[in-house]
Amino acid sequence: MDDAPDALTPPDATGGRVGMVTRHSGATLAAPGARGYPVVPRDKERLDALYEYGILDTPEDPAFNDLARIAATLCSAPLAMVNLVDHERQFMKAAYGFARRDVPRELSFCAHAIVDPSRVLAIPDLAADARFDSHPIVADAPHLRFYAAAPIVTDDGFAIGTVCVMDVAPRPDLTADDAEALRAVARQAMALIELRRDRAMVRKANLRLEETNARLEDVSRRKTEIISDVSHEFRTPLTTILGYAELIRDEDLDPGETREFADDIVRDVQRLTRMMENVLDLERLEARATAFRPVSVELPSLLEDEVARWEVDEAAADHAVSLSVKIGLPCVLADADRVAQVVRNFLANAVKYSPDGGAIDVRAEPTADGRFVRVSVTDHGIGISTEGQARIFERFARTQEAIARGIRGTGLGLAICRQIVELHGGTIGVESLAGCGSTFWFTLPAAPPALGGAP
Ligand code: ADP
Repeated sequence: MDDAPDALTPPDATGGRVGMVTRHSGATLAAPGARGYPVVPRDKERLDALYEYGILDTPEDPAFNDLARIAATLCSAPLAMVNLVDHERQFMKAAYGFARRDVPRELSFCAHAIVDPSRVLAIPDLAADARFDSHPIVADAPHLRFYAAAPIVTDDGFAIGTVCVMDVAPRPDLTADDAEALRAVARQAMALIELRRDRAMVRKANLRLEETNARLEDVSRRKTEIISDVSHEFRTPLTTILGYAELIRDEDLDPGETREFADDIVRDVQRLTRMMENVLDLERLEARATAFRPVSVELPSLLEDEVARWEVDEAAADHAVSLSVKIGLPCVLADADRVAQVVRNFLANAVKYSPDGGAIDVRAEPTADGRFVRVSVTDHGIGISTEGQARIFERFARTQEAIARGIRGTGLGLAICRQIVELHGGTIGVESLAGCGSTFWFTLPAAPPALGGAP
């Protein structure tokens, strides 16, 4: 159809417009408004109704082409269209006998036909009608003469468009049969428009359903992964506990040995308990089921408290923990307990993964743009290879360096830290060189100036 001759396109978009408006006779039709097309009562609501169908600018559709052809055949006309009348244009949904093309509303015959939704409009001879005689496709090729249109009317009575037929020869007025046939086709056009809208709605609903399903599948997969990870991680300490318990039950141990094995059991049970708590904490964080209470937090005192803990901790006897804070450091908007949890984890790791001791430096400074504060913990421990760094913040991720040295851990702490930092709108990362040490860092948004943040 798009290859058909472009017979109805006016030679120039404004040609004939002045003539059409100024020479209006106003005999049987509504008068043109200031814009050059007839005023339609409640046009704004009519347009809202039209837009609700989402039919404008939709591609060519064979079912609408069929309606145009049927209208042409029923009325024995060489040309027929299914049109929707938009605010400033006529959108041609289907055309029979020529190519589909938008037409400015002031050049649209159908803009007249939609004024009265109850009437079929017929113009026996366009050239003899003062409103249309200078219209470019009447005055010039293809010299149209006859036009008839039945409005496409919504349930609420708005004429959103028309089914129309045209001829190059004038005709006496439309027969009652032709008028009724045209009206029937317009009704079918309306039914088809509704069908297309309903189909689009069903498609959209299906899409939403698919998205929801994908999300649910994701949650369910995550849960399965957690269960499988957890059962795997729990097996080792449970096997150890069982082994020690069987020894105590079956062997004739002296009290010293019994106490030693019981200590091992206690240690593993404590580890399992910690792991259980961490798994639950991580699950709650991942499911966004944990409420944060972000307030303006002064990091220097929080960091001082965390560093002070290690000064009296035996595990850090070989480590010198120092703190440096940039002067004028803005406050951060955060949940202080959760921030302390992250810092504690970084410090515990720095101590644990520096078995030979060494300095541990804690730093806090604003980022270059002043919108965030960056906290880092640097150690001179075993470090992490580049491959190890890629997975380090994933649940149960442990590095070869740590496993090879027999340093125990659950691989949950950093995953929890990442969740906490990201839920605050910050970022987390690591810079490390295997064998040389690591710097773990995170950023948190600075509080607004009124709350002690950056000016
Ligand atoms: P855990 O220490 O209990 O295993 P984490 O999630 O805190 O759990 O750490 C995950 C892994 O990251 C550790 O097992 C270790 O392999 C590595 N890691 C963490 N911190 C450091 C560090 N400071 N230096 C070297 N490796 C580290």
